[in-house]
Amino acid sequence: MIVSPMIDAGAAGILGLLVGSFLNVVIYRVPKILERQWAAECAELAGGAPQEAPPFNLVTPRSLCRQCGHMIRWYENVPILSYLVLRGKCSACSAPIGLRYPLVELATAALFFFSILHWGATPAGAVWCGFSAAIVVLALIDWDTTLLPDDVTLPLLWAGLIAAALRWTPVALPHALWGAVAGYLSLWLVYHAFKLLTGKEGMGHGDFKLFAALGAWFGWTALVPIILMASVIGAAVGIGMKLSSGLREGGYVPFGPFLAGAGLTAMIFGPGSILAAIGL
Ligand SMILES: [Zn+2]
Repeated sequence: MIVSPMIDAGAAGILGLLVGSFLNVVIYRVPKILERQWAAECAELAGGAPQEAPPFNLVTPRSLCRQCGHMIRWYENVPILSYLVLRGKCSACSAPIGLRYPLVELATAALFFFSILHWGATPAGAVWCGFSAAIVVLALIDWDTTLLPDDVTLPLLWAGLIAAALRWTPVALPHALWGAVAGYLSLWLVYHAFKLLTGKEGMGHGDFKLFAALGAWFGWTALVPIILMASVIGAAVGIGMKLSSGLREGGYVPFGPFLAGAGLTAMIFGPGSILAAIGL
């Protein structure tokens, strides 16, 4: 029975393409939704009258070309295929469509394919698909905006603890629980120590929550490999960007994408393999 797992994984891969298409919307809209909420809260605190704004959420309004406002029809929104057929351009104004859209779809498909191939069409396979989707979203939102929304990090943390309790992850519940605690506290301590020493903020509170979530999914013993890998790659990318002067205004490289990358590595190869890869 070698065929059946491949069929399950292939079906998961196709589902991953569709989910990836939705993740593109999430990555683009969630920071904008948060900005609107904050602006509304500020206006309310300042005593202004509540403003009636047109609805803006993950389903409304329909997706538009950001250049010309052309409404994207369903057949222009088929994962990968539409990008290829349209040759990466808006059908109305020929403005280029970011290569990131099909890449996010492909990456999500690959991660779903891997999860179901590895864990089978089981609850474990499904929760690792969910983990992958959340990690893709967090990595890209943080890269774009240096935000790691609580709306994603906190459910990811709870999901890791619940999956451990149900034995859908290979981590015993106490290991998951202490992983979450140690993940949060360790970066919290680093943050405050760095702030005391330099007067600067080295990372955001979202990083503590994401690291806590990774502790919940992989157990406390995985925290050191994950933070080492994230730091090494983060430092390499930071130095590379500085040398190529690609570093953004203010010189801040978010840490979340590297934590996320280390989390995906731990999922695919196991946390222990990270230490082996860096020679420890
Ligand atoms: Zn257009």
